[in-house]
Amino acid sequence: MRLEANLGLCQGYGNCVALDPDHLDLDDDGIVVVTRDIVLDKELEAVQAGIRSCPVNALKLNDQDAQP
Ligand code: SF4
Repeated sequence: MRLEANLGLCQGYGNCVALDPDHLDLDDDGIVVVTRDIVLDKELEAVQAGIRSCPVNALKLNDQDAQP
């Protein structure tokens, strides 16, 4: 699965980064950056906690492989 961020929605609260620092960070403007989009099964709980923490629902999991 892959983690995706809608940068247009992100308001830079940073909740998600605190809960899922292995995949997310904030850039210099305070907007979320997906630093690693691949989500391993063992990481799912932390990733979902980060997704749920976002007040504007800017994060989602895509269960389709993005490979061509
Ligand atoms: S919690 Fe949502 S709004 Fe806040 S930084 Fe993360 S993606 Fe952006």
